[in-house]
Amino acid sequence: MKLEVFVRQARWRVPLRTAFTHDTATPEPRPLVLVRLESADGAVGYGEAAPLAAYDGTTLDAVLAALASYRLVLARAAGLSHAELMAKCAGAAALPQALAAVDLALWDLAGQRAGLPVWELLGSKVAPVLEVNATIDALDPAAAAAAARDAVERGFGTLKLKVGDGEDVRRVQAVRAAVGAGVRLRIDANGSWLMDEAMSKLNQLEDTQLELCEEPVHGVFGIAAIARSFPRLTLAADETGSDPALFRARVCGAVCLKISRCGGITGVLRDAVAAHGVGYETYLASTLDGPLGIAAALHVAAALELHRPCGLATLDRFEAPEVLRPRGGHLTPPRGSGLGERLVGWYDSL
Ligand SMILES: [Mg+2]
Repeated sequence: MKLEVFVRQARWRVPLRTAFTHDTATPEPRPLVLVRLESADGAVGYGEAAPLAAYDGTTLDAVLAALASYRLVLARAAGLSHAELMAKCAGAAALPQALAAVDLALWDLAGQRAGLPVWELLGSKVAPVLEVNATIDALDPAAAAAAARDAVERGFGTLKLKVGDGEDVRRVQAVRAAVGAGVRLRIDANGSWLMDEAMSKLNQLEDTQLELCEEPVHGVFGIAAIARSFPRLTLAADETGSDPALFRARVCGAVCLKISRCGGITGVLRDAVAAHGVGYETYLASTLDGPLGIAAALHVAAALELHRPCGLATLDRFEAPEVLRPRGGHLTPPRGSGLGERLVGWYDSL
């Protein structure tokens, strides 16, 4: 199989402002890696790598080096199954963000061959319709409240507020006051709180009726300790989901799964089985993915029982043609076979 790799730079329309991205004056474009995989019989599939060093510590260079090693493996891999190909690639470089690109391209290629969308290959009879949250950045309280009202007007029933930077407590309180009791609010500290700070802020936020708190601190022990202190609040692990120890026993309520961190559709399915096996709920989110990554998450959702809204409404942050636009706070996979039609053109427009 022939693997080709293209780096694309997505310019920001609305730069992300979170605990790990402070400088919004002149943000660098967000690099995304598009891969094209062609089999010996001429079938083609596309995938994407979306490393986000500030989130997962994985650099673009690391992904490109891993993909270069996969190119050699795949060139000599005639007649191998999807699982065998992934095992060979993981043997060359076990980097989930790079493995995800090949995995997505293999699923896309299989769908193109079969003339079926990936959600159907995964055994579903109907395309999933997924509730998605809007993300409210770590803005000052008044600006966050205005952004929240705007998102609710656009049909979102769940808002995820970034915390860990600035006036966290006042921001969440201002948003709750602005949108009323009927909107679900979740917060995400991206692991930036210290333990004492997390305990204190969650205490102060007790009457804001949070649906969920994602990654208040990093690490299994810290998250477990906070979960014990706040038994009525659903705590979710996100970044800590890369630690296998999280899956040995349930330490909190939920795990956020990501195409990039888990190593593609196949990796999300594997981690979902592990998570459900010990009693976690799961939901999906993007690492500021391009449309191939978002589409992959929408397809794999068909095979998972998800009880919570997903963080996949992130494409409108980029200066690019509109694809996979949420309607009434919901997203559904694109039309067409494989991962879907009109996705690759998005990268070419950047
Ligand atoms: Mg998160």
